[in-house]
Amino acid sequence: MRMNRGRLIVFSAPSGCGKGTMLAEILKDERFYCSISATTRKPREGEADGVNYYFLEKEDFVQRIDRNEFLEHACYCGNYYGTLVSEVESKLDAGVNVILEIEVQGAMKIKELRPDALFVFIAPPSVGELRRRLNKRGTETQEVIDKRVAQAAEELKYMEKYDYIIVNDALEDAVNDFFTVIRAESLKTSAQAEFIEEVIKNA
Ligand code: 5GP
Repeated sequence: MRMNRGRLIVFSAPSGCGKGTMLAEILKDERFYCSISATTRKPREGEADGVNYYFLEKEDFVQRIDRNEFLEHACYCGNYYGTLVSEVESKLDAGVNVILEIEVQGAMKIKELRPDALFVFIAPPSVGELRRRLNKRGTETQEVIDKRVAQAAEELKYMEKYDYIIVNDALEDAVNDFFTVIRAESLKTSAQAEFIEEVIKNA
């Protein structure tokens, strides 16, 4: 039997929405792979090259843009971020669902390039809660936190362009909601062309 191609899943959330913890849970399921992006941002404490990101110098990043190595790239809070083509296609061919954990500008580019992708937005219960979470994290300066809160307010405006919105209030519920979305997508008529053909052929 021919192997089904994996699904490309765009997963966006303003920082402070608990996207990282949600992803860690989702990735325990081996049907999913999270593409490792390239960035010009400096590593945070505990982050490793080739694990969290490929950390690149700006010059290297720009050269890779010129060589068309990125499916999409964007500038976010003064740094470049990009999805490497090499991280995506071979996994999809192998039947693995590839998650792109990217911000909204990149997501909108993917929407043009790959309208068949699944677009999931992770939202905070409220902007007040988002601010509280960002302040609590304590890994960034107040200036960076303020910049990220302002950025988050901008990103929330794109929410309606996504296929699904999951509010991350309680982690377990949010992760369950994600798997419910995946299940529902797999039951769509459009996802069952082979099954339909088979049943009709044998009817
Ligand atoms: P952080 O610096 O907190 O790791 O990431 C900042 C933002 O960049 C997050 O919203 C994250 O989703 C986004 N991001 C990470 N990788 C990529 C990428 O490859 N492309 C785009 N467009 N955004 C990315």
